[in-house]
Amino acid sequence: MSYSSDGLAYGLPHHALKILDVLERSGAEAWVVGGWVRDALLGAPCHDVDVTTSARWQDAKAALVADGIPVHETGTAHGTITAVVDGEPVEVTTYRSDGIYSDHRHPDQVVFVSDVKEDLARRDFTINAMAYHPTRGLLDLFGGREDLERGVIRAVGNPAQRFAEDALRVLRAVRFAARLGFVVEPHTHVALVDAASGLADIAQERIGQEMDGIVRTGKVAWALEAEPEVMCAAIPELTAMIGFDQRSPWHAYTVMDHTIRVCRAVEEFTAGLATPELRWAGFLHDVGKPVTCTIDNIGRGHFWGHPKAGAAMCETILGRMAFPKDFITRVCTLIRYHDHMVYPMTRSIRRTLVKIEQVCPGYARSLIYQLINLKRADAVSKVPRASYYAIELDKVSTAVRKELATNPPLCIADLAVDGRDVMELMHIPAGPVVGSILHELLYAVVNCEIDNDRDQMIKYMTKGL
Ligand code: ATP
Ligand code: MG
Repeated sequence: MSYSSDGLAYGLPHHALKILDVLERSGAEAWVVGGWVRDALLGAPCHDVDVTTSARWQDAKAALVADGIPVHETGTAHGTITAVVDGEPVEVTTYRSDGIYSDHRHPDQVVFVSDVKEDLARRDFTINAMAYHPTRGLLDLFGGREDLERGVIRAVGNPAQRFAEDALRVLRAVRFAARLGFVVEPHTHVALVDAASGLADIAQERIGQEMDGIVRTGKVAWALEAEPEVMCAAIPELTAMIGFDQRSPWHAYTVMDHTIRVCRAVEEFTAGLATPELRWAGFLHDVGKPVTCTIDNIGRGHFWGHPKAGAAMCETILGRMAFPKDFITRVCTLIRYHDHMVYPMTRSIRRTLVKIEQVCPGYARSLIYQLINLKRADAVSKVPRASYYAIELDKVSTAVRKELATNPPLCIADLAVDGRDVMELMHIPAGPVVGSILHELLYAVVNCEIDNDRDQMIKYMTKGL
């Protein structure tokens, strides 16, 4: 594969050209830099445009505003402003070389410089350290284009020093490698393993953003296999899973090797289109196994309660990394029920749907298919004879589709009667009893004793309760 920089000119969007033009007419030098250049050379869909310029941010702002371009001061301490052209935001940052990072997180001081080369040298990886200008062409000082062609993530400069400056780069390396299907260059890899413990100094929220980036590539199995030290440094709870022998005739693999297989199977069963919830659930579904393991008198391992314990651990892990609460609930629900048996029968399906709806209101219809895919992936990743359940799950999936087509009640609000009906018919005042009667009616429908039909419910209430 080879990449030409010539085609880049055609791809550079109008809003980026406009900003380069305004800055350069004001006497400054400006380049498009970083992710846009990388993705354009790869022929990948291009994302936000970042511009780097010799102008001080105040001068860049003045030139842009004078041309009628709105500018927001989004990070002036680091020399960054955001200009908006055609509704498209473009970050414009003054050339800078970052100083010492004594806390492994933030440069102690940002030094503005006049040469773009110094700005490129402070960037993390060769593939992210290229600049492009429509007439001056590609500025590639560190072999970024060659590394793109070879599929390599390589630190700019001395890798150990670069990771010591900012430990988040350790996770960024894994994220870019996962996203692009690249390998980490051997020296960069050694430095990355050495520096992984530095993640302890990084804000959990930023670790969460990078980990989410890794998980969303659908390549978390690769990350766990290729960079276990980094993954465990980011989420220490993973460490106990590595090499954990399950001592069970139902499990041929250690907890981590099984997890890696499940993550791969999730992608296979969803043709690479798994939701982030399902990907996270596959990744963490057995995180509760090491802590719940008991060994019986013939030496076999049991993991009673591991789905519940795992869901609680997942809540802690995603919570400390500041994931949105409703996202956490959906992932934890999948983990909580990954061992729950579902059969291709109305009652079993309705029960499962109602259980999910109780914890994740409004999500039962979509989460049940994700749960089935998680269970399928789990079933084919244990021992060959456990795989039969994946076939049973195909039947469950068909039955779920049929069942949902009948629009079954998933919660009491879906019942053909409401609280007022219950109070009138049963001659009772408002209060918790009304709620428990409605729940009984819901379960009567779930258990196929009655249909979700007003007359049948009235009869059931007056006679059956
Ligand atoms: P993405 O598609 O993930 O946004 P990106 O390359 O645009 O990829 P950003 O995090 O938006 O990544 O950063 C923009 C650029 O800033 C990078 O391409 C890189 O040159 C530089 N950069 C970002 N974070 C760091 C860092 N921690 N250390 C060094 N350089 C960095
Ligand atoms: Mg970006």
